[in-house]
Amino acid sequence: MVEREFTGASFNQFLNEEKLMGTRCKGCGALYLPPRPICIKCYSRDMEWVEMKGKGKLYAFTAICVAPTIMIQEGCGRDNPYCTGVVELEEGVKISARILGVDARNPEKIKIGTPLSIEFVHQGEGENRVTFLAFKANSA
Ligand SMILES: [Zn+2]
Repeated sequence: MVEREFTGASFNQFLNEEKLMGTRCKGCGALYLPPRPICIKCYSRDMEWVEMKGKGKLYAFTAICVAPTIMIQEGCGRDNPYCTGVVELEEGVKISARILGVDARNPEKIKIGTPLSIEFVHQGEGENRVTFLAFKANSA
């Protein structure tokens, strides 16, 4: 594993490479996602990167109608809401992400506990490429 600083920038760089990476404290084994450079449980700085399998379930969600600009460019907005949520990963950590494959127009049909798999949503090219973390509902 390449040694990278335990920062949000490294986290985003990993996302560009389609890896969801957290950090684990070598001292007490606590897992952090998004990554932290220092363990908040034992204050150790001895961290290592760990790749998440990218499987989880829906823990909480919101259907969003007032979209940020980048989402409006994708056609989201008042008539086409999108869903963001918190995903509880198999590893036991939670992370917020776009939720795909659910009907954001009918949020009452979206179920907490829905099994989800990771999706990497790339936008832009080359230097400007950014990657959004998303999770997609497993088709039944
Ligand atoms: Zn620790």
